[in-house]
Amino acid sequence: MDRKDRRAYDRMWKVANRKKNLKKNRKQDNEYYHKNKDRKLKNYNKNKEKYIERIAYYRINKRNNDKGFGDTGFSLKEFRVWYSQKDKKCTYCDIDEHLMPIGFWGNRSKITRLTIDRKNSSKEYKFSNMCFACETCNVLKSNFFTTDEFREIAQKYIKPRWEEIIFPNIP
Ligand SMILES: [Zn+2]
Repeated sequence: MDRKDRRAYDRMWKVANRKKNLKKNRKQDNEYYHKNKDRKLKNYNKNKEKYIERIAYYRINKRNNDKGFGDTGFSLKEFRVWYSQKDKKCTYCDIDEHLMPIGFWGNRSKITRLTIDRKNSSKEYKFSNMCFACETCNVLKSNFFTTDEFREIAQKYIKPRWEEIIFPNIP
C-alpha cells in the first residue's frame, strides 16, 4: 500500500467505524468526568474568585479590542487589585452582590454576579470609566442614558423593585 492508498483506507476505516469510535470516546469522556469531578470542583471552589476575575479581565480586553480600542492599559494583577478593593454593589440601584437573586435573568448562570459597566459607553474600559452594575441596570442603561441620569432612574424604579423581590413579606 502506498501513502495515497493508506490515506484512503484510513478514511474508509474512520467512516465505517464512526459510530463505534464515537461511543468509545463518549465512554472515555464520561469516565474522565466522573473520576475527576470532585477534584476539579474542589479546585474550582478554592480558586473561584481568581477564575472569575480572570474571565472578567479577558472579557474586558476582548470587548476593548472588538470596539477598536486595543488592549486595556492594565495588567491582570492590577485588575485583581481594582476588583477586590471595590465595593461589590451596583453603582445605580445599590443592590449588594450577595443579595442578588440567583437565576433571575433566566437560568443563564448559576452564579449571579455584578457586571462591569462603562460609565461612558462610547469610551474604552479603563479604571476611571469602569464601575459595577447589576445586569438589570447594565442592560437598561445601555448607551442610552448617562451615569447620573440612570442613577436617578434606578434609585426611583429599580431599587424598590429589588426590595420587593428580595424581601417580599416585609411590609
Ligand atoms: Zn443595579
